[in-house]
Amino acid sequence: MSTSKQIILVSSCLVGLCTRYDGKLKTSDQCLKQVAGAIWIPVCPEQLGGLPTPREAADLFEGDGEDVLCGVAKVITKGGRDVTDQFIKGATQVLSIATQQEVDRIFLKSRSPSCGVSGRIGVTAALLQQHGFEMEEF
Ligand code: SF4
Repeated sequence: MSTSKQIILVSSCLVGLCTRYDGKLKTSDQCLKQVAGAIWIPVCPEQLGGLPTPREAADLFEGDGEDVLCGVAKVITKGGRDVTDQFIKGATQVLSIATQQEVDRIFLKSRSPSCGVSGRIGVTAALLQQHGFEMEEF
């Protein structure tokens, strides 16, 4: 079925789903305005990687998302648990969805070890970038 509507892949926490590590709501009104009228596909790479919500906060360690994908950096929780595999699995799932759904645009949450685009790029954003996707950040 063809549609003239844009298909937008979006970080689920930006559009009102409580998928953040702390389970709190952090909706972006600016992002909601941008997705209005489009078909949007909310994704949370950390959940898709098998992590629960709420979950321990985690951060990139000794590099950025690209370094994680190269195997020279890790993602570690505040308590010291290595969740690198879950982050990579989630990124791979998001890449698969973006590819299969032929998305027109991708909106990601800023300052996230998964979704962050500018500054220190997150694992999911890095994988999408490696596959030629352009991303906008909120
Ligand atoms: Fe999930 Fe990304 Fe939002 Fe974190 S920033 S809750 S990984 S969608």
